Amino acid sequence: MDEHTDVQFKSLSRVGIMGGTFDPIHLGHLVTAEAARSEFKLDKVIYVPSGQPPHKKGLHVTDKKRRYLMTFLAVSANPYFEVSRAEIERPGETYTIDTVRYFKKNMALGSELFFITGADAIFEILSWKNVDELFELCTFIAATRPGYNLGGLRKKLSTELKGRQLEKIIPIEVPAMAISSTDIRERVKKGRTIKYLLPEPVENYIHKKNLYK
Ligand code: ATP
Ligand code: MG
Repeated sequence: MDEHTDVQFKSLSRVGIMGGTFDPIHLGHLVTAEAARSEFKLDKVIYVPSGQPPHKKGLHVTDKKRRYLMTFLAVSANPYFEVSRAEIERPGETYTIDTVRYFKKNMALGSELFFITGADAIFEILSWKNVDELFELCTFIAATRPGYNLGGLRKKLSTELKGRQLEKIIPIEVPAMAISSTDIRERVKKGRTIKYLLPEPVENYIHKKNLYK
């Protein structure tokens, strides 16, 4: 990925990355990223739609250009939000470690990188490629979503993790939102409404392109 054609983040000192399949992006993602931005005083949150997610192998995933476009439509109204093409332009399976390395390499010395994720995904992360290096390069912001209580998460983390990794996962509470992309896709398929679960331009795009039917 050529950094000149992607989001510019060289001058920023606190950057958040929001990774996801975003099939489609919804208000759960936006509320979480905004809460992290505000609580951690991030200069920007950069959404990174995944290319070919290794954990979704065999499942049908919408074309990456369309997922990128929906993400772009959803975040363009927030000056603190950007979308990166880093993963959709990388050939083959995409791994978070490559993305984090790419961001870190292009950021100023002394700047800080945060990886924003749902709390439910944090235990998956421990099974990711190059997990030790990941923890060296960034701090994880783990947002609770419905069904995951913060106290329980802290307890589970402290029994399963070593000191250094534990310090680099910071749980935050976001307004509980029972929204998921899976549910939105199922609703569309059944002809049920998805209004107010995601930004209107994304809803319009889904209907116009007949996605998830
Ligand atoms: P799917 O149902 O297809 O798995 P999803 O809604 O989980 O989709 P992803 O693109 O897989 O969306 O998630 C990207 C990131 O956003 C993950 O870190 C996930 O934990 C987080 N996330 C998803 N939905 C919510 C939500 N409602 N509240 C907070 N975080 C969320
Ligand atoms: Mg998910």
